[in-house]
Amino acid sequence: MARKLIAGNWKMNGLEGTGRELARDLAARARSAAPGCDLLVCPPAQLLFPVGEALAGSPVQLGAQDCHTEPSGAHTGDIAAPMLADAGCNHVIVGHSERRANHGEADALVRNKATAAQAAGLTPIVCVGETEAERTSGQALAVIESQVRGSLPDGGGSEALVVAYEPVWAIGTGRTATSPDIAEAHAHIRALLTAIHDDAGRDVRILYGGSVNPDNAAENLGVAEVGGALVGGASLKADDFWAIAGSCP
Ligand code: PEP
Repeated sequence: MARKLIAGNWKMNGLEGTGRELARDLAARARSAAPGCDLLVCPPAQLLFPVGEALAGSPVQLGAQDCHTEPSGAHTGDIAAPMLADAGCNHVIVGHSERRANHGEADALVRNKATAAQAAGLTPIVCVGETEAERTSGQALAVIESQVRGSLPDGGGSEALVVAYEPVWAIGTGRTATSPDIAEAHAHIRALLTAIHDDAGRDVRILYGGSVNPDNAAENLGVAEVGGALVGGASLKADDFWAIAGSCP
């Protein structure tokens, strides 16, 4: 089984000074004490080069938060997967619930973005997760299943694909799913991955995301089939992100 992956999603936060400083801090910690898990930060696009420079020579990897389905062309304001690879990324988040909600991104588009990422040599982190209304009406597993079936690209395996289970109601709210609910969702996603990708589906890391912080990280990361965490707010503080990384069992 691959090591756990702790991925920081900085969202739309950071200017050159603060972004470089945060990356330098994480890189210095990771150089002096090898982390027991894989570490990744996904800054906003304008910080990819300065953050990449600050991380150089450290085990902290660089990722992005979105990509277009096309490798180039007339798509004002978008960024293509080969551009992200050129900037030093090896991962890209696709289908984050904020993009699904704020930009109307549906499963088919997410799938095409993930496929474009793989074609550029990047590992897509495909996000799925139910809303609070869907959970309270008993639809959580059905929603997760339909998003997994609709959003995943063809290729599986630990290097080709990461899935993030992020209940929408737990993102940025300070509320986290219970361990039994996380276990149930992750087991369901694992069963789908192995049904779709056979052996390669067994190796795909399934991250949990939703208000992970230093206090709850050990419990969340200890749940069966949790292959790491996708961390939003707490990834903006080096102490918190490092403490979460240190919670990997
Ligand atoms: C996220 O943005 O993917 C996320 C999980 O955010 P937070 O950790 O702030 O809930």
